[in-house]
Amino acid sequence: MQIDRDYVRETLVRLVQINSVNPTLVPGAPGEREIAGFIAASLTGIGLKTEIFEPEPGRLSVLGRLEGSAGGRSLMLNAHCDTVDVAGMAEPFSGAIRDGKLYGRGAFDMKGSLAACMAAAKALADSKTRLRGDVLVAAVADEEYGSLGTSDLIEHVKVDGAIVTEPTALNVCLAHKGYLWIEVEIAGRAAHGSKFDLGIDANMKMGAFLHELATLERELRARPPHPLVGPPSLHAAMLSGGSGLSTYAAQSTVKIERRTIPGETEVQAVGQIQGIVDRLAESDRDFHATVRTFFVRDPFEVAPSAAIVKAVDSAAKKVLRRSPTHMGDTPWMDSALLQAAGVETVVFGATGAGAHADVEWVDLESVVKLAEILAEAAVDYCS
Ligand SMILES: [Zn+2]
Repeated sequence: MQIDRDYVRETLVRLVQINSVNPTLVPGAPGEREIAGFIAASLTGIGLKTEIFEPEPGRLSVLGRLEGSAGGRSLMLNAHCDTVDVAGMAEPFSGAIRDGKLYGRGAFDMKGSLAACMAAAKALADSKTRLRGDVLVAAVADEEYGSLGTSDLIEHVKVDGAIVTEPTALNVCLAHKGYLWIEVEIAGRAAHGSKFDLGIDANMKMGAFLHELATLERELRARPPHPLVGPPSLHAAMLSGGSGLSTYAAQSTVKIERRTIPGETEVQAVGQIQGIVDRLAESDRDFHATVRTFFVRDPFEVAPSAAIVKAVDSAAKKVLRRSPTHMGDTPWMDSALLQAAGVETVVFGATGAGAHADVEWVDLESVVKLAEILAEAAVDYCS
């Protein structure tokens, strides 16, 4: 499959030069409006049917469709077009190329991969390859905060398989962790600081809880690790309690982040923390606590035998002339949303460094290779 290298380079330079910082992360930032306009025009120009989705004002996703002749599996190439903040960066929007590296915010996470998805669709359109299934390019909004874009698209678009092109250095990512945010609120009793007989110190009770939580934390990390993503973990991310020096603390709150591995459920993970609270309440009649889960992101895992994995494996082998490594990753990605919606999904993307850091770059040659692999995988999967 012939990749148009000039299109890859020119498209990626433009994508990086357009500021698409997520406005939920940075109030007043532009979001996806301008970049979505550029992507839609480019996809229309290469012959795709293009639609814009706007789940919230100013938060836009673009869906380009290369229609198949019907009867085959459909494939979504998914990349987010928002980025994190640019504070501290010397050249956030330069798109400068030095020694084969293209620099700027989002080059690596993940406009490089987005350019590759677009170039893969162009290669398929240019070659007049008539696939049976549709090939979709989804440039989605808001992955860096709440995943508005992918959440919205899966409500409207039916697709059989997806490749989420978060950067993986051209390795095939088959699993990542999920996470839960859990709040534990301990109730004490306010009283004058001299009235030890009346007050119940919620902060002291929190100490007892945290001692038990630390034991659970060690136990989680000592478990047999998942072969691709390692063991589960947790941390006591935020603490608050008490209202004044001469007052017994009436309330103490901890917000916990629990990182889950494939196979673990929300019920299990929350149950471990509820178990600590129940044990403490049994041995101390002044211990009163409530456990509340306020955000859940599921872990992700796909079988190596899935058709989508086989398609990427064989395309990568053909283009790279070696079998790609199977890997897991720790951060959460949109792949979990797609997989949970019944879309068989794998993660495969470009090479580079500096996601969310001051110097970010993507290896331009890896973007071209990625485009070629995505196009070959589409031919395999959608024929
Ligand atoms: Zn990303």
